[in-house]
Amino acid sequence: MVDYLPRSAWGARAPSSGPGRLLASRVRGVAIHWPGTGSTRPIHTRTAVASALRGWQAFHMDDRGWSDIAYQVAVDQAGRAWTLRGLRTQSGANGSLTLNQQYGAILLVLVTGEQPTSAMKATVRGVVADFRRSFPGGTRIVPHSAIRPGGTDCPGPAARAAIARGDFTPNSSPEDDMTPAQMQELKNFIEARNKAYALWVHKMLSRQLVQVAKAYTTDMKNFERQTDAADAARAAAAVWATQPRPGQEPSDPIDPNDPVDPVDPTEPPLPDEDPIPFPPLPEEPATPEEPGTPEEPGTPEEPGIPEEPGAPEEPGTPEQPVDLEEPANPEPTPQPEK
Ligand SMILES: [Zn+2]
Repeated sequence: MVDYLPRSAWGARAPSSGPGRLLASRVRGVAIHWPGTGSTRPIHTRTAVASALRGWQAFHMDDRGWSDIAYQVAVDQAGRAWTLRGLRTQSGANGSLTLNQQYGAILLVLVTGEQPTSAMKATVRGVVADFRRSFPGGTRIVPHSAIRPGGTDCPGPAARAAIARGDFTPNSSPEDDMTPAQMQELKNFIEARNKAYALWVHKMLSRQLVQVAKAYTTDMKNFERQTDAADAARAAAAVWATQPRPGQEPSDPIDPNDPVDPVDPTEPPLPDEDPIPFPPLPEEPATPEEPGTPEEPGTPEEPGIPEEPGAPEEPGTPEQPVDLEEPANPEPTPQPEK
């Protein structure tokens, strides 16, 4: 449903007694018209359109003697729809009484050389849809030139081409049949759906983030556990290495009556001769995936430090021969010049 400007919007004169309403049983469609004044001066502003409509009304009523401006509705390039006689009232525009009974009349406020704007086309589609609601049998959309006996150039080549393309045909765009309220409802629906979708995406993303964080935490735990185990193993090895061997402690006067060092309860179970306590690492099979530990062997490379022998060159410095006073070594004397 198009919003129509009332007759008062263009300062219409009251009509004289006219033909009355269209009879739905006779209606076949709508005819498209233009002013056809031959002028190329655009009629775009609301004021200009209103003024032009008043002029055409005066011409039709005063010069032609008709009851009112001839058309039912006017549509301008800004997409405004103007109430002239109204869609239900029979027009005087089509060229014969029969044609006026069979066709409605829509005036395009289009001058010579102009193409109809998309705003004009959209509104015309809406007007045609409204016309069809009142007259379901009136499905045809024709240029005035296609029906007028004797011919006419109306509504001009641009509008004729637009009609042929279906630019004025409703349902080519679904929103044509919507009322403004329905359009708003659709917009709200789309907006709500978009919001819901954005929320869903956000939720999925944060869920994945949580999973990544969990996996990371697990990895870190495994890594720490393994590191801890390695540290513990190393510490144990150190302890074992410093542990006094039973045979090595002759100084220890073992007094059978004296309980063996009660302070250290771990001491008694010494019997294991193997100094390498690595076996107590049962956790290793649990974390075989960790390639991180194998890298530790990399540390052995540190022996590479021997490279520092670069320092050995220093011996070349004369400083070493501190006892240059001894004549045995005369060479150092010149070097101190540094
Ligand atoms: Zn015409």
